[in-house]
Amino acid sequence: MSKPDDPDNAADMTEAEAANELMRLAKAIAKHDQLYHAEDAPEITDQEYDALVRRNRELEDTFPHLVRADSPSAKVGHEVAGSPLSKVAHEVRMMSLENAFDREEVEEWVQRVARYLALDEASGIAITAEDKIDGLSCSLRYEGGELVRAATRGDGQVGEDVTPNVRHIADIPQSLPDGVPDIFEVRGEVYMSRADFAALNAAQAEAGGKLFANPRNAAAGSLRQKDASVTAQRPLRFWAYGWGAASDAVCETQYEMMRRIEEWGFPVSPFLKLADSVDAMIAHYEKIGRRRPDLPYEIDGVVYKVDRLDWQKRLGAVGKAPRWALAHKFPAERAETTLEAIDIQVGRTGKLTPVGRLAPVLVGGVTVTNVTLHNRDEIVRLGVRPGDRVVIQRAGDVIPQVVENLTPGEKRESFTFPDHCPECGSEAVSQEGEVDVRCTGGLICPAQRTQRLEHFVSRKALDIDGFGSKTIAQFFALGWLESPADIFRLKHRREDILALEGWQDKSVDNLLAAVENRREPDAARLLFGLGIRHVGEVTARDLLRHFHTLPALREVAEKARGGDEEAAGELTAIDGIGSAVVEALGDFFHEPHNVAVWEDLLGEVSPPRFEIETLASPVAGKTVVFTGKLETMSRDEAKAQAQRLGAKAAGSVSAKTDLLVAGPGAGSKLKKAEELGIEVVDEAGWADIVRQAG
Ligand code: ZN
Repeated sequence: MSKPDDPDNAADMTEAEAANELMRLAKAIAKHDQLYHAEDAPEITDQEYDALVRRNRELEDTFPHLVRADSPSAKVGHEVAGSPLSKVAHEVRMMSLENAFDREEVEEWVQRVARYLALDEASGIAITAEDKIDGLSCSLRYEGGELVRAATRGDGQVGEDVTPNVRHIADIPQSLPDGVPDIFEVRGEVYMSRADFAALNAAQAEAGGKLFANPRNAAAGSLRQKDASVTAQRPLRFWAYGWGAASDAVCETQYEMMRRIEEWGFPVSPFLKLADSVDAMIAHYEKIGRRRPDLPYEIDGVVYKVDRLDWQKRLGAVGKAPRWALAHKFPAERAETTLEAIDIQVGRTGKLTPVGRLAPVLVGGVTVTNVTLHNRDEIVRLGVRPGDRVVIQRAGDVIPQVVENLTPGEKRESFTFPDHCPECGSEAVSQEGEVDVRCTGGLICPAQRTQRLEHFVSRKALDIDGFGSKTIAQFFALGWLESPADIFRLKHRREDILALEGWQDKSVDNLLAAVENRREPDAARLLFGLGIRHVGEVTARDLLRHFHTLPALREVAEKARGGDEEAAGELTAIDGIGSAVVEALGDFFHEPHNVAVWEDLLGEVSPPRFEIETLASPVAGKTVVFTGKLETMSRDEAKAQAQRLGAKAAGSVSAKTDLLVAGPGAGSKLKKAEELGIEVVDEAGWADIVRQAG
């Protein structure tokens, strides 16, 4: 007999039992939310609260048709989508930083900056260096000198409105002195000092309340409150590291600008310094590292930024990260624990990934229970088996990993990596020269197929509500979901779905309506949802920004695979697209099964032409070719400029070319352009076009 606190296995429950428990859970979770968020007087621990939420999820996954209108799962979590706070679009995107872990990577970055700017040598580039505080990024917008809005980073483009909350943070001025541009956004980090964090957790423990894992979580939890009076009671601090939108330029360098922001009343890093060489940057990094244990706040690295703002503008960004900034991280934190088991997970590409299950251990304030063991070779290299004592390491948001096996000599059998897929029983092999072991089951492997479908409907891809992993597995087992296109044919199975246990008119209608809602999906999301290797979210957008439609992309990708150099050149000329993507696209379209899936899907959905608003520029929509030597910029920068102005940068001259930018030494391309009567400008002419477009 099960104890009352030992919940029944959801799969064995009757519908009536599940409905009852879901109702009780909804009430209980709502009550604890109210106590915690609004009254700041939690009655249960964080773990107990999490257990309620997990149980609710489990029941909802098993009985999707019983999901309540007031379901707590719609409200919890830290994503902007599920947040009770309203959303704010950032006028200027909040970026993420590229990371470096050693001197070599820092040197490479400085060299890359120099190459991109076509500078003769890297020495003499002024770089700012400051410590990177571990908090929550926030953007503060001032209009006419008054604070009008504060927003969290969110996904960088859309954050949460925390304006009433930051009014309680003493470090943040409510109004700015004269001389500040009419519109100015200060960006920085909201954080909690170590001492304040310890005192807050002690008070929470005394009250039997929720404990925070680390100062960063405590700062985030305290800022992201619907009731700002809760924020008012938390000891939050702020410091500025940069700025976003600005109606006027104020200074010409990062360093001067930060000093100006400091004069306006914002705290900035006491370590902010200008460096003129890699040696000076590393010396400053080491100095901060030595001081790190004694600082009153937690830091996780040093941030370097190119000082000249005109250079920052030229350097621009790759994906979500600016080329002009770098985070140099401090070494990871480590801890010792026992490896209890090794599980094998099968991903959507068929890759078998070993996951280590650990005796829970605290690393840098976070409880870790799983580690990635990467692949078969890594297990052999470490010689790990269940039962070994291991050292694990955690660095930032990266999944923790095992760095050392402390008991390799003990007499126990070594771990045998499976040679068959644990999901479908097919042979699992590694290709020549590859370390990954993959299931060969392909289409018969349910793990691969269901995970591909889950990826297709996931939030970042088609974002179709109502498909839990259990629903997908069930429909798949019934043979209703062979490929993504089948999702759009489920409407013909309305009666079949209704006949399944647990589905009612309303839940079926909701599911089918969510599907119909995606008949005209965003083309980039659709491409990303197909799960082609190397084609992530950003790459999918980069491709569609250039090709606008999926058939146009396919045509060029197939030509490139067939050896057409012009087609391959058109692809690699796109900023951010390399040969791995070109090859992966070619391979994808070369496989008849993929083509069938693609055509079937495009028979069901009609993505509108993909457009991203670009600046009104004289070259928008035109095809530009660069040839000869460029003297004030690199070829990469020129191509990135063309794309920013809405033009295509192509590799060769053809009848489709609109403009040739020819530097000294231009040869056959210039001749061909003149024969075809194509407009030709020199580098200075191109610079004029860029200036005109602002
Ligand atoms: Zn398999």
